[in-house]
Amino acid sequence: MKTLYSAFDVTEDDGFGARLLIDLGALAENWRVMRRLSAPARCSAVVKADGYGLGMEPVIRTLYDAGCRDFFVATAHEGEIVRKFAAESRIFVMNCLLPGIEPLCRSADLIPVLASMEHVAIWTQSCIVNGDHPCALQIDTGMNRLGITVKEAHILAGDVTRPAGFSPVLIMSHLVCGDDPDHTLNDRQLEHFTQISKAFAGVEASLSNSAGILLGEEFRFDLTRPGIALYGGQASTVKGNVTMPVVTALAHIVTIRTAAAGETVSYGAAGMLHRDSRLAVCSVGYADGYLRAVSGAGTTLRGSNTKGARGYVLGHNVPVVGRVTMDLTIFDVTDIPADLLKPGDSIELFGHNVPLDDVAAAADTIGYELLTSLGSRYRRHYTHSSTG
Ligand SMILES: *Cc1c(COP(=O)(O)O)cnc(C)c1O
Repeated sequence: MKTLYSAFDVTEDDGFGARLLIDLGALAENWRVMRRLSAPARCSAVVKADGYGLGMEPVIRTLYDAGCRDFFVATAHEGEIVRKFAAESRIFVMNCLLPGIEPLCRSADLIPVLASMEHVAIWTQSCIVNGDHPCALQIDTGMNRLGITVKEAHILAGDVTRPAGFSPVLIMSHLVCGDDPDHTLNDRQLEHFTQISKAFAGVEASLSNSAGILLGEEFRFDLTRPGIALYGGQASTVKGNVTMPVVTALAHIVTIRTAAAGETVSYGAAGMLHRDSRLAVCSVGYADGYLRAVSGAGTTLRGSNTKGARGYVLGHNVPVVGRVTMDLTIFDVTDIPADLLKPGDSIELFGHNVPLDDVAAAADTIGYELLTSLGSRYRRHYTHSSTG
């Protein structure tokens, strides 16, 4: 019997303990899904944090080939990398710590998203001295993180003394509770942002991340900014997944051992065996971003009652037993006939059979954190499903 990912089973050790299968065809298809859901607004892609951990170059190339021409990154350095693979595109840098970043914005043709009145003043001065260069403007409609206030936005919009150097190509804001369609803050933010977009008539407006796109047409404005949905994560706590998994994480079995009922497993003796068990010791650990908090039942999970994650192999869900350690995690494979599983076989940590967000939930976190924590120790296989 072959396991689902037997093509990636290890018969000869290649020096890697775990692998990521990154389906670029699914990524492209997910972008097209978000583009359809965003229409008639244009659809960008948020590719910060190394494309949510998937790898900047393949992610950008794939999205660019799919037709994406607007990218959002966190830092200007990330923007410089995007520029290499997305020549004809607008690249917005959301966290510019002006001053000092202006030369890089100009040389790599990046659009800084100004996030305070201080930024506006510095940028305006730079444009007076060095000539016009496009910028964007963030307005804080409730997050209390980045952006000028709603009041400042209205004053700025009506300020006829505004120097010619200040002419944003985009205004944007960010939703606080977009993943919860019933939250009253959504409508309040929408109302503020709608007013501001009217005050900045003729300037493109952008409000919605992945979750916001699902809230409805009125949230989409001119440009949407999906991130997590592109990478197969769950955007809305209510609406479930609208896109397909992109990343499959696999660890291979290093050894299979038996242990008797009553014995304990891993550090802290936190995993108690209630039956004679067969245990698959797998080459992945918290150093790979398989978070220690996903540890199986019996482990103290920072005060929460989560029961721990499960892996998947040969049609079986195999629970994590005991604590996840730095490099190794132990799965209970007692229910799988002994002759079907051997060292080198792959166990899916998350992917098509174990939702990313289930593993995240076991660790009391979100898919975003799991993806961006994956680390550098995986062997990455980029694949193209037929959907591409
Ligand atoms: C990260 C980010 C996004 C993308 O959000 P997702 O929830 O991943 O779709 C959009 N806008 C801003 C301002 C962000 O910081």
